[in-house]
Amino acid sequence: MAIRKILTEQDRALRLKSRPVTQITPHILELLDDLTETMRRADGCGLAAPQVGVLRCVVVVETEPGEVYELINPEITNRQGTQRVLEGCLSIPGKQGFTVRPEQVTVRALARDGKTYEYTAHGLLAQAFCHEIDHLDGILFVDKMLPGTLHYVDPNEEK
Ligand code: ZN
Repeated sequence: MAIRKILTEQDRALRLKSRPVTQITPHILELLDDLTETMRRADGCGLAAPQVGVLRCVVVVETEPGEVYELINPEITNRQGTQRVLEGCLSIPGKQGFTVRPEQVTVRALARDGKTYEYTAHGLLAQAFCHEIDHLDGILFVDKMLPGTLHYVDPNEEK
C-alpha cells in the first residue's frame, strides 16, 4: 500500500468525469488499498479515485473506524428524505459549508470480489456516499453549498 497525493480544488482533474471500471485488475485492488490508506492518513471519512488523479469510478468510505466500504462503479438507486449537513473535503482543505443531502440512500456497487452489492445508508454514511459519488462526476460539495454557509477552518484543527 502507498500514500498517494491528494489533489486540491485548483486541479482540473477534480472536474472531470471518471470512467467505469470494466475489469477488476490488481491495479484496481491496489488503488482501493491506497485510497483507504491515504484517506486514513488524512483523517478523512471518504476518498474518491479522482482525488488522487485516477479518473476511475472507485471510492472508499469509512465513517465508522474499521468499517470500510469499497465501492466500484457505484450508483445511487434510491434516495429518501433530506438532511442539512456540514461538509468538508480533503481536496478543499480549510473550507466547510452546509449542503442538503438525502437522509437515506441505496447504493449499488461492485466490490473487490467482482460481485454486485447494495448498501442502504442513513445520516452521515448516506452523506459520505453522496459526496464521494459526486466526485466521480466532477462535482464538489462547494457546488451544492447553501448560500452564505461557507466558512473557513484551520485545516489542522478541523478533525
Ligand atoms: Zn471530497
